[in-house]
Amino acid sequence: LPPEKKLGWAVVGLGKFATEQIMPSFAECKRSKLVALVSGDRAKAEKYARQYGINSKNIYDYQSYDNLRNNPEVDVVYIILPNGMHAEYTIRGAQAGKHVMCEKPMANTVAECQAMIDAAKKANRKLMIAYRAQYEPYNLAAIQLAQSGKLGKLKVVTSDHGRILDPKDPADVWRMDKKLAGGGSLYDIGIYSLQAARYITGEEPTEITAFTYSTPGDTRFRQVEENVNFTLRFPSGVLANCTSSYGYSNTKRIQVFGSDAVLELDPATDYYQHRLYISRNNRREEQNIEEKNQFALEIDHLSESIMTNKQPKTPGEEGLQDVKLMNLIYQAARTGEKVKV
Ligand code: NDP
Repeated sequence: LPPEKKLGWAVVGLGKFATEQIMPSFAECKRSKLVALVSGDRAKAEKYARQYGINSKNIYDYQSYDNLRNNPEVDVVYIILPNGMHAEYTIRGAQAGKHVMCEKPMANTVAECQAMIDAAKKANRKLMIAYRAQYEPYNLAAIQLAQSGKLGKLKVVTSDHGRILDPKDPADVWRMDKKLAGGGSLYDIGIYSLQAARYITGEEPTEITAFTYSTPGDTRFRQVEENVNFTLRFPSGVLANCTSSYGYSNTKRIQVFGSDAVLELDPATDYYQHRLYISRNNRREEQNIEEKNQFALEIDHLSESIMTNKQPKTPGEEGLQDVKLMNLIYQAARTGEKVKV
């Protein structure tokens, strides 16, 4: 690839995550540059366009979005909208001839995920789900340690993701609305626990059990759940115990229990400053790994996949699998029965 070649990206939805994490990370990208913005708030978009040196003719709203079709500067659209809007904007993006990066969770339903995959395929465009942890050096090191046998035979994975849902935070208001959020804590952050169990083992679960709990009378949880605990059985015999909560204090942790050693990542899936420990013979040692900007790495991964015409590591099918499994987790909790995948 020519060293100077960068693809043009449009960010769709200028909310908290887009403006605080993703847009600043383009400065660290080697293959990607931010060239367009899509927003329902023109004044906000103008402000960010000035800040990032984006031509104001490259500002779109949700109606003019389809006109991206006529803008050859834009190769990729990055959908950072509420979950319930991912399917529509991914499909319209692909139909406008653009490659698509879509935030997690991919969409509310399996049918929406399939329609997104089909639309990208029909338009001959790439579709990647923004599973940043799969591009993050500490998580990659944990996968390598777990799968190389260095922990001995893997027995159990646990993963916990929780935070307090704040109804005063505009970014949390749509998360209380089932149509926009798709689900509760499981769709928002429990998905990281599910991902961890899958990428640490490198396997797909065969059986699921689950419980949910929402504090009675808590108005935040009228439509979406507060807590989900779920257990997954994997073909190798590994069992994963996962939790997801909008009610317990900030936690982003993965633990991997092997016959020889135990690995702990805490925080495992934060934005920066991860920590990795290995305990062996009652001695716990911290491993030092070089911290990198995971957002820049994942963004460049899609640009490179497009330039070399390769399937990205976390394609639409990966997002669909999680949406399918999350719905089976809800089914297991609802019925109280073990669900076969
Ligand atoms: P925000 O509410 O902060 O941002 C969403 C943006 O979408 C809004 O600012 C708005 O942008 C636009 N929007 C359009 N229609 C609506 C609507 N009806 N209600 C609310 N917003 C609307 O949310 P987040 O940034 O926290 O989350 C956005 C997405 O990113 C979600 O899918 C979430 O799961 C994902 N995310 C991923 C993270 C990760 O680590 N990978 C971390 C955080 C979020 P505008 O005003 O420009 O139109």
